[in-house]
Formats: sequence, structure tokens, C-alpha cells
Amino acid sequence: LVSARNVHKSFETLDVLKGIDLDVFPGEVVVVLGPSGSGKSTFLRCINHLEAINRGSIMVDGDQIGYRLRNNRLEKLSSNAIAVQRRKIGMVFQQFNLYPHMTALENIIEAPVGVHGESKASAKAYARELLKRVGLEEKADSYPRQLSGGQQQRVAIARALAIKPKLMLFDEPTSALDPELVGEVLATMRDLAEQGLTMIVVTHEIGFAREAADRVVFMDGGHIVEMGTPDEVIGNPQHPRTQSFLSRFL
Ligand code: ATP
Ligand code: MG
Repeated sequence: LVSARNVHKSFETLDVLKGIDLDVFPGEVVVVLGPSGSGKSTFLRCINHLEAINRGSIMVDGDQIGYRLRNNRLEKLSSNAIAVQRRKIGMVFQQFNLYPHMTALENIIEAPVGVHGESKASAKAYARELLKRVGLEEKADSYPRQLSGGQQQRVAIARALAIKPKLMLFDEPTSALDPELVGEVLATMRDLAEQGLTMIVVTHEIGFAREAADRVVFMDGGHIVEMGTPDEVIGNPQHPRTQSFLSRFL
């Protein structure tokens, strides 16, 4: 579903991604681990073209993200065409960024109705289904300030799912939460994984990586240093940098 080839990204003189290659197959859950500044967020942002890459290519579900091939040359896509590509990709951030003046339900239907022109009635029906899926059926009419951090993040997950994405990107979805609220969000993500959603998850939750990941990727210094099953990468890391990173979690 995702195919990244030789992806390079720099900010002025700072090279952040130095040739990332990654394939993600339909239904796979890939957890990305790595130290601060290794380029994890930048890589996720490149996948939905929140950042434009400098070299290489990223394909999602057959689309070349941000570009199209024309007369054998890559041409930048218009913002409309990029918006169409993004409909296949949901993203959840560390900060939930819900609209404070909208209820949970209104937050969820905002993109389907406001951006994609879906009818309000069908968007609402689907939003209620999604709220049920994240365990918040009874919170449809609550405002973000009336919800706990964990509940807000679950609404944010439902909101990302509302566009029926083929791929979900999670960037440290639990790191802004109080420790006692982390579990409910991870449980929701585990459910989604079991239902076959394709997910790329940046997280420091090693337990989640062990239990939910099909594959674990360890990034350092803009490279993928090591990749394999959780048993391989977490249970028996081969690279010294993976070993020293993981030793902090023991
Ligand atoms: P963390 O675990 O702290 O979230 P990360 O692995 O997600 O780290 P990135 O956020 O991808 O790291 O950042 C990688 C590097 O790129 C950092 O040195 C960061 O300062 C730099 N960087 C990220 N975004 C920008 C930007 N918009 N402009 C300039 N530099 C940036
Ligand atoms: Mg980050």
C-alpha cells in the first residue's frame, strides 16, 4: 500500500531524511521507533505531503504523492489534486487539535461534510458508528473541554477515520497524555489494527510495538537502521544504536 524509495528531505542545510526505503503492505501495522530528532515525524509528514520530499518517491495506493509523471517528467500536483490524494490517508498527532467550539460529533463530520461534500445525515450516522468503535457513543454531544485527554484523542482518531482512509498515520498519539489515559488510546489502536487497518505508528510505547506491530522500524539520524518483526528488532536488536536506544526502556 505504501512504497517509499530513497526518500530524502532536508530543511535548508539540515539533511533530515537520508534515503528512506520502506514498503507497507495492506493490513500491516508498522511501528517506527527512534530517538528524538531522527526524522520520524518528518517521514510521516512526507507520506501525506505535509512536507515535500527533495528526492526519491512515495507511492500510496498507486498514487505518487505530491507529483505525477507526465512526458517522463515529474510534475508537481495542484493543491486540489494533493487534497484528493490525502483522502486516502488519515493522520493523528500528539496534540489532538480538535475544534474547541464543536462537539465530538461535529468534529468528526467536519471533513466529510465540509471538504468532501458528503450529506450531513450519512456523515452523522457514520460518525456515531465511529464513536462506538472508539468507545465513546455517549459523548457525541460533548465539547472537547468536557472530555479527558484520552477521550479527546479517541475522538481525534474517529475524526481521522471519518474520511475512510486506506492508511492511518499516528505520530506519538499518546505522548501528550497522562499515564493513566495512555492505555485506553492504545487499546483503541489495537482494535483498529485487529480490524485490518493499515497503520504506521510512531511511538515510544514499546509494549504496543511488541503486541500490535507486524513490523518494527528503528530510525536514527535520518536512516532506517534496522527493520524486522518485534521479536527481531525489540527482542534481539542487532545494531548497536538500536540496542542502546532500547536499553533505556528496560
Ligand atoms: P521526536 O521524537 O522529538 O518527535 P522526530 O524523530 O520526530 O523527533 P523530526 O521532528 O522529524 O524528528 O525532526 C528531525 C529533524 O528535523 C530535527 O533536527 C528537527 O529540528 C528538524 N526539523 C523538523 N521540522 C523542521 C522544519 N519545519 N524546519 C526546520 N527543521 C525541521
Ligand atoms: Mg516527532
